[in-house]
Amino acid sequence: MPIPTENVGSLPRPAYLQEAIVAYDAGVIGFDDLAAKQDEACKDSIEKMEATSSPIISDGEQRASSFATYPLTDTLGGKGLSENLAADGQYFAIFDDGHHRQLPRLTSGPFRYKTFASDYLSQSIPYATRPMKQAVIAPSMLSLLYPVDGAIDDYSREQFHDDLCDEAERDIRQAFAAGATHVSIDFTEGRLSCKGDSRNPWTGRNMLAFFIELNNRVIDRFSAEERKVIGVHTCPGGDSDSVHSAEVDYAELLPSLFKLNAGYFLIQVASEADKDHVYRLIGEHLREDADGIAQIAYIGVTDPLNPTVETAEQVRDTLLRASRFVDKHRLGATDDCGFSPFSTDTKPRHGSTDHARDVAFAKIASRVHGAAMASEILGL
Ligand SMILES: [Zn+2]
Repeated sequence: MPIPTENVGSLPRPAYLQEAIVAYDAGVIGFDDLAAKQDEACKDSIEKMEATSSPIISDGEQRASSFATYPLTDTLGGKGLSENLAADGQYFAIFDDGHHRQLPRLTSGPFRYKTFASDYLSQSIPYATRPMKQAVIAPSMLSLLYPVDGAIDDYSREQFHDDLCDEAERDIRQAFAAGATHVSIDFTEGRLSCKGDSRNPWTGRNMLAFFIELNNRVIDRFSAEERKVIGVHTCPGGDSDSVHSAEVDYAELLPSLFKLNAGYFLIQVASEADKDHVYRLIGEHLREDADGIAQIAYIGVTDPLNPTVETAEQVRDTLLRASRFVDKHRLGATDDCGFSPFSTDTKPRHGSTDHARDVAFAKIASRVHGAAMASEILGL
């Protein structure tokens, strides 16, 4: 079987969609007008991703407020925020360029998703002629909605975790029911949990073990056959062409990450300074038997934060190098991250969001063609 390859999920929103989001937040246009633009952007994303010959595609998350907040709010400006949430939650991340992203705060129980990923997928799938994947948010990220210290009246942390796991399971099951071939769980907070950023207190509380346990509570509800097509994405963040935890050594994360009983992993590597170090860690810790399935490592071969397009030959060589450390039968190819996990990303290093879209499709095409070239050389 040739080296499998898939994207993480998101694409930059075209300028017309970003303008529509601003107009909707300002009350200038209604939701139907915004939804029409989102629909147009999803259709365009699917057509352009299919044109890259990618074997599996996504709609670029053009309807989502962000990879993490889609279950909670319609826009990052706060339109459509769920009733039992307040906007003033803790920082999710403080990025290297100084900007930050904030989560809402849970004010009362019970916790329920307002929107499931399948609500978006079911609208997009009629446009696709190739298999579609769907990304969902990890329960570990949404666990940060509950105050890190203290408790919510009449709604214990334990009850919240029970509800959260039920909703996260439903999110994955419904995505498969809506037609997703693969479902990948975004877990960017894994690496960030090893950072110890004093400006962002939750990152200094050694939460990684808890995150792994919580996510496995959901993943373990699926059969081995189902888990083969459930993935997990790790990265040091990717927003406004900046990162939040690239300085954390993967040695702190990967041995724990592969304890997740998922079938495959989408791992940022292209932007790492020492790629061999990461390949070696993957080769050592990727599990041959994760409760009945052999894990596959999709290596990041393109960098969505860098406007320079990798060539197919560079992708081929990256994968050939990685195959010296990771069994070629358990090697895949991906992008380092979603190309725009947050809807309001202006892609400053790219100059414009429309140009960033073109760059993203060019990078995806290089990944697909480079993976095919490497497969041929490796006899796969
Ligand atoms: Zn990412």
